[in-house]
Amino acid sequence: MDLTNDKIMPALFVGHGSPMNAIEDNEFSKAWEKIGAELPKPKAILCISAHWFVNELAITAMEKPKTIHDFYGFPKELYDVKYPAPGAPQPAEETHKLLIDKEAGLNMDWGLDHGTWSVLCRMFPEAAIPTYQLSINSSMPPEYHFEIGKRIKAFRSKGVLIIGSGNIVHNLPMMKSDNTPYEWAVEFDNKSEQLIYDRDFESLVNYHNLGKEALLSIPTPDHYFPLLYILGAASKDEEINFFAEGLTLGSISMRSLRIG
Ligand code: ZN
Repeated sequence: MDLTNDKIMPALFVGHGSPMNAIEDNEFSKAWEKIGAELPKPKAILCISAHWFVNELAITAMEKPKTIHDFYGFPKELYDVKYPAPGAPQPAEETHKLLIDKEAGLNMDWGLDHGTWSVLCRMFPEAAIPTYQLSINSSMPPEYHFEIGKRIKAFRSKGVLIIGSGNIVHNLPMMKSDNTPYEWAVEFDNKSEQLIYDRDFESLVNYHNLGKEALLSIPTPDHYFPLLYILGAASKDEEINFFAEGLTLGSISMRSLRIG
């Protein structure tokens, strides 16, 4: 794979929500299909998924990543979904070199978790693009994740599509079935939209200072941190578009953005 001097790929943050979005036709899965068709064809996809939140920095480097069904109590149809995209050992090796001072390691055991495949099976249904994952080191503070985003930005000019997959507002204990969003969820979702438009990434990194709406929206940071990688990977003055938005189950924001 030739990763030299390519045009700059966009970077995406995708609000993935329920794993059922992989197999349901709804406004979100349709938005993922649409943007997949619009994007320039990547040479490889690097995904930072909320569901690989571990106490180390790791990069998947296997030839054939397995599809991981890391959820419980869903219909059989969802467990039957496979996303047989090839791995990306060479880009993984280069990413490893780039992050060696951060004690990054190569991983041969993980695969593609549902933060990755539930989105990619709609965005790139042919599963032909080499795909690899970067873990989120759960022991590190928000600024670390933003910094890693700045570092991996270099891969955008090598034809690699970087995708952060999580949810800006993600409070599972407060989830409800009637879909009416909580006021704090709406407020923080709107505030994050404005801060992204204003390029005030620093405030988003320091989300602890954004009031009680932020703390209710981000009770644990696993689904929020993927956003920080994508903001870190943005260039100054690059165009930012929101390609999906809306709150589901009261406390999950599906807000998704494209940079570049
Ligand atoms: Zn999730």
